[in-house]
Amino acid sequence: PRTILSGIQPTGELHLGNYLGAVRQWVQLQQGGDDVLFCVVDLHSITLPQDPATLHSHTLAMAASLLACGIDPGRAVVFQQSRVQEHTQLAWVLGCLTTMARLGHLPQYKEKSATQKEIPLGLYVYPVLQAADILLYHATHVPVGEDQLQHIQLASDLARIFNKRFGQTFKAPQPLVLGQDAGRLRSLRQPTKKMSKSEPDARGRVALSDAPDVVREKFKKAVTDFTTEVYYDPEARPGVSNLMVIDRAVTGRTLEEIQAASRGLTTAQYKLAVAEAVVEHLAPIRQRMNHLLQEPGHLDQILEKGAEQARERAAKTWNAVRQKVGLLGKL
Ligand code: ATP
Ligand code: MG
Repeated sequence: PRTILSGIQPTGELHLGNYLGAVRQWVQLQQGGDDVLFCVVDLHSITLPQDPATLHSHTLAMAASLLACGIDPGRAVVFQQSRVQEHTQLAWVLGCLTTMARLGHLPQYKEKSATQKEIPLGLYVYPVLQAADILLYHATHVPVGEDQLQHIQLASDLARIFNKRFGQTFKAPQPLVLGQDAGRLRSLRQPTKKMSKSEPDARGRVALSDAPDVVREKFKKAVTDFTTEVYYDPEARPGVSNLMVIDRAVTGRTLEEIQAASRGLTTAQYKLAVAEAVVEHLAPIRQRMNHLLQEPGHLDQILEKGAEQARERAAKTWNAVRQKVGLLGKL
């Protein structure tokens, strides 16, 4: 059986891209016979500055969103990374087994550091923490977007390096690339860029918590082009094509069906149609999410229970690591 672990940063609210590209598939993964863990990776989110109160509320909101989307704490271990201290401890040991050159070459680091005047050390070493997240639970499969493939490769290399130095301990994880369904959703404001939580302009993304009128307004203002017909051409027409991809993901229609059904519609009219489909699709999720957020105590309990399950497993791995590395004598 597979052990599947995936994480999401509480850098903002869960958006349609996260949902269609990742979380919806996570819900399916927990239906099989696999061992499944989902982690709200708050330690990763502080690699760039976060306001403390906002971070806390985003963490709770992220947990609520995952549950509202159908992640089931009865089938998966759902937990908050910082509640399990072994993540940072293992990260330190793994960090001693890789090099600065190796980390400096990772594309995500290059991308995110380019926007910073002073680069935090945390941003630089964050793939090592990610490797610890994965290896701590002996995950065999890690659902990720394509932007994360090199990070899984690092985790897998670190597993091998550790095993070679200290004896067989870790399995090398492999990526599970999801999102063929939605692919990368793009920003509604800048359709050449991906929809993202941390993009300052919230008009580019649809949060799962957005009220119906907010969703309609965002689609109405979505950037398209000066051709009024509806057809798919992601290179020349990224805006309209993105709307069609969203449409396909929420209605289940194929791109051909969408194009045929939209004949005679202007892109302005089509935007409203997609907005309605999204509003309808999100309604039950939004309702469950609001419900969960009304009882933060209950939510906290769910996270604490998840942390207990995670801690028990993490402690086993960490104790083995300590002994092998020589931090603790043989018991
Ligand atoms: P941030 O801007 O803070 O990096 P993000 O929106 O990119 O936030 P992540 O927490 O980095 O979200 O990723 C969570 C999951 O959502 C990952 O599996 C990632 O591949 C997926 N994902 C993120 N953005 C998109 C998108 N635009 N379309 C499809 N999937 C996405
Ligand atoms: Mg991201």
